[in-house]
Amino acid sequence: MYRCQICNAVQPARTHSTLVTTETRAAEYPSRPKAHRMRVGRKGKTMDDPGGAGFEIAKEAMACPKCAAEFLKKQAEAEAAGYYGDDA
Ligand SMILES: [Zn+2]
Repeated sequence: MYRCQICNAVQPARTHSTLVTTETRAAEYPSRPKAHRMRVGRKGKTMDDPGGAGFEIAKEAMACPKCAAEFLKKQAEAEAAGYYGDDA
C-alpha cells in the first residue's frame, strides 16, 4: 500500500510500484588516484578510480503501474522527438 506520487491516489495492497525518473542532471566526477585499496597476497595495492561523466538521477517518483506506463510512454515520445530537457 502506497500513495502514487503522480496521481496522488492510494493504491491497494499488493500493487507493484515503479520508480520513474522525472529529472536528470549532467554530472562529472574527477578521477581519484589511489582511491581503492586491495590486498594482493600479503601486500597492499592501490587502484585508481577513473571518475567519469554522464547523467545522474535528480528526482524520482514512486508511481502506480498505470501512471508509470503513461509516464514512460510520454518520456519515450519526448526522447524520440529529440527533446532532452530538465523540465519535461
Ligand atoms: Zn498513479
